[in-house]
Amino acid sequence: MRIGVDVHGVITDDPEGFERWLTEQSQVNEVFIVSGPPERDVEIKLQNLGIFRGEHYREIISVIDFLRDSGEKVWEDPPGSGQWWAGDKVWWEAKAKIAYKQDLDILIDDHEKYNNNMPMRTMFILYDGGQMSVKAYGLSGMTLKEREDS
Ligand SMILES: [Mg+2]
Repeated sequence: MRIGVDVHGVITDDPEGFERWLTEQSQVNEVFIVSGPPERDVEIKLQNLGIFRGEHYREIISVIDFLRDSGEKVWEDPPGSGQWWAGDKVWWEAKAKIAYKQDLDILIDDHEKYNNNMPMRTMFILYDGGQMSVKAYGLSGMTLKEREDS
């Protein structure tokens, strides 16, 4: 399986627990880190948490790099701060687009808003303070708006 894992609010919540879990998962699954900041910043953050490429994950997929490569408008504010921004709608739909492009089977994140427009094949798992719960809305193929209306 191809598993996407968020960093902030997930791995950062329990680095030692995730160090063990990611070591195990990487032996049988393909683990992708799906995180907001530029790839290099994410890699350094993970190194500081004791999480390393090859050992704990295969590849980092940066949301901001993905949006920039997709031609979406992104901006750094304040300039030189390493804090990158995009429009709200563009931002919250980005992880679903990444899941689609990367054929992810599972995406683990602490923000349920990223489940908006999740492709049918991707199971969204909400991480909430050590608990993981399956939010398989993606299976229905419904958008967040349709879900709210139903
Ligand atoms: Mg997060």
